Amino acid sequence: MTAKLLLRYSPEALDKPILARVIRQTSAEINILHAELDATKGEILVGVEAPPAEIEKLMYLLKKNGIDAKKLERAVELDENSCLDCGACLSLCPTGALHTKKDYSVRLDEDKCILCEVCIPACPVRAIKITKF
Ligand code: SF4
Ligand code: SF4
Repeated sequence: MTAKLLLRYSPEALDKPILARVIRQTSAEINILHAELDATKGEILVGVEAPPAEIEKLMYLLKKNGIDAKKLERAVELDENSCLDCGACLSLCPTGALHTKKDYSVRLDEDKCILCEVCIPACPVRAIKITKF
């Protein structure tokens, strides 16, 4: 994944197929990671695979059509050396980004992480951290 974008819909944009239209105008490949939409507001977190210029074009087209697109400049990181594999974080993770392998070791799938940060205070040894880039 090249970037994660948080898309915030204006009320006027909610009932329009803007994302589908804009995707067709770029070469970006988009994967919806998380969505919260109701009748008055909407937020969608997407993973985008595209060259930087195409990501800028995508963000421009979204903004032009009433969707505020913000590039996320942070990530959640699991320090596998500090992790005790206690599993305390697993049930809190809403997307399954934190998961166990066959040997019961805990791992993080960054592509599935929606940056909700609920796992961070749950870790007794602070093995999960936010990194900025
Ligand atoms: S921040 Fe933590 S709990 Fe939230 S999705 Fe990412 S790994 Fe899961
Ligand atoms: S809560 Fe911390 S120590 Fe326990 S499995 Fe999760 S990351 Fe590892």
